[in-house]
Amino acid sequence: MVRLDGVPPLAYDYLVLATGSTDNYFGNQELARVSFGLKSLEDATRLRNQVLTCLERADAEPDPEARRALLTFVIVGGGPTGVESSGALSELMAIVAGKDYHEISRAEIRIVLVEGADRLLNAFSFRLGRYAQRVLTRRKVEVLTGALVKSANGHSVTLSDGTAIASATIIWSAGVRPNDPIGESPVPRFRNARIQVDEWLRIPGSPGAFAIGDAASPRVGDRELPMLSPPAMQAGRYVARTIVDEVRGSQTERQPFHYLDKGTMATVGRNAGVTHLPGGLEFTGFLGWLTWLFVHIYYLIGFRNRISALAAWAWDYLRHDRPIRIILAAAPGPKRI
Ligand SMILES: Cc1cc2nc3c(=O)[nH]c(=O)nc-3n(C[C@H](O)[C@H](O)[C@H](O)COP(=O)(O)OP(=O)(O)OC[C@H]3O[C@@H](n4cnc5c(N)ncnc54)[C@H](O)[C@@H]3O)c2cc1C
Repeated sequence: MVRLDGVPPLAYDYLVLATGSTDNYFGNQELARVSFGLKSLEDATRLRNQVLTCLERADAEPDPEARRALLTFVIVGGGPTGVESSGALSELMAIVAGKDYHEISRAEIRIVLVEGADRLLNAFSFRLGRYAQRVLTRRKVEVLTGALVKSANGHSVTLSDGTAIASATIIWSAGVRPNDPIGESPVPRFRNARIQVDEWLRIPGSPGAFAIGDAASPRVGDRELPMLSPPAMQAGRYVARTIVDEVRGSQTERQPFHYLDKGTMATVGRNAGVTHLPGGLEFTGFLGWLTWLFVHIYYLIGFRNRISALAAWAWDYLRHDRPIRIILAAAPGPKRI
């Protein structure tokens, strides 16, 4: 039985749990309250509002300390999301400082990327992590590795070694956890709480129930599949075929789910990306960036979306600009400045 909000419960023959993941603040309520997440469109709108509001206010702020906090952006977590966000933020600042905001120079703006491990992009090779760090440093992002954020209060961020960074904006990309509504039911889980499904992506002990995507992973040796779109999409197709076969009464024995690794990639910003392909082939720089760009365009749904995204990106690329700088109404979020 599936219980829904405000609607009578639904009985099911098949249930596919694909509820994705949510930010993990490791139980720190204060961090959760003051940080900006990067999971949804609403999150993105709130973050854009925050960044633009900080710039607007700093432009007219006479108090140097308050101005410094408004112009300091702390990104927590040096995985692909943190690396991509700090690269993008640095690019935006290079465009707007001194131009849209006449009283602000790029040199005043601090973008600080804090990573607990001793290097960036832990899921990639050492070489790719080092490349990302080099590019970000060149683009004026301060990269702090081996540093953990202990607390934040909306005005400053404190690291575990006691360092305090005055900042009005803390962006959280340091962890995610599954968002499944199973609650306390005794299903096997990985250390990060993803459901351990069997080789056919079924939830053990729950006939007819599957779990896929970020919410779950089959055990592959002692590993789990990454929380990325390709495992989610492949698992979705696999489970859909399983259900169709069963409904049609197919007698053919279903093969276990097999994940085809097509590689992983991340962009560090304009003309700079990292790509790892199965078999160990890796590349960085313009080629890594171009691969990232075309793969992301290719996986958009619908030809029209692909063309319009490609055209918008090409236009921004040629003009060296991010023209949309509007502050929109957004649902109440973590905070305000
Ligand atoms: C900023 C960011 C950048 C990323 N970049 C990449 C990338 O470049 N490449 C890549 O491969 N992956 C990337 N990912 C990861 C990728 O988005 C996820 O791995 C993928 O979306 C997982 O798919 P899913 O179907 O499991 O979950 P989701 O795509 O998150 O979908 C889950 C859906 O379930 C809904 N839902 C949740 N709970 C309930 C409930 N109780 N009832 C009803 N509905 C519910 C949610 O609203 C959501 O729409 C990125 C993720 C983020 C946050």
